[in-house]
Amino acid sequence: MERPIVTQLVVATNNKHKIEEMGPVLGSSFLLKTLDEIGCYDELPETQQTLEGNAAQKAQYVFDRYHTVCFADDTGLEVDALNGEPGVYSARYAGLQRNSEDNIELLLKKLAGIKNRLAKFRTVIALAEPSGIKLFEGTVRGEILLERRGDKGFGYDPVFQPEGLSTSFAEMTLEQKNRVSHRARAVKKLIDYLLHNYGR
Ligand code: IMP
Repeated sequence: MERPIVTQLVVATNNKHKIEEMGPVLGSSFLLKTLDEIGCYDELPETQQTLEGNAAQKAQYVFDRYHTVCFADDTGLEVDALNGEPGVYSARYAGLQRNSEDNIELLLKKLAGIKNRLAKFRTVIALAEPSGIKLFEGTVRGEILLERRGDKGFGYDPVFQPEGLSTSFAEMTLEQKNRVSHRARAVKKLIDYLLHNYGR
């Protein structure tokens, strides 16, 4: 049977940091389209209690309305000493204003005086295709720094230092972050799957 050819791939986000990060990992095999580019200006639903649930919900929402293969990612920072907090609530940890500065402030306050600063970033990507939803996961372990370092990246990047390295994510170039990051690892798994199933 002929395989369908997916050259256009919709990413169910308008977060420019994420798009910038994922572009180089996706390479030239697929033409990445954003929600704006397919005329979708809706606020995507994210009402589930898990990263898996939210990623699937966003991808399915776009697939159902635009009938195109698409993927969505959902990421959480899981801190060991806080029993996996903020996890699925990472974006709105300090409140519905979804402000990264406030979120970092709260995280540092909760970890004040705590020796164990081990944490991991976990990204779940949900791919919505005619046959249903397929999930891909990428993680990176590291530690929460005592204070912010660097001004690149986004979100919790200034206070996260990956295991075995001596710079925070916010001190790295895009290329350096993509070598070890949770999102890059999940995107690589997605690409392997797409090339295997849709590649020419
Ligand atoms: P989202 O739900 O996937 O958009 O991400 C949840 C929260 O985690 C947001 O507050 C982001 O700022 C943060 N976040 C997601 N990915 C990263 C990352 O690569 N570095 C730092 N923070 C991130």
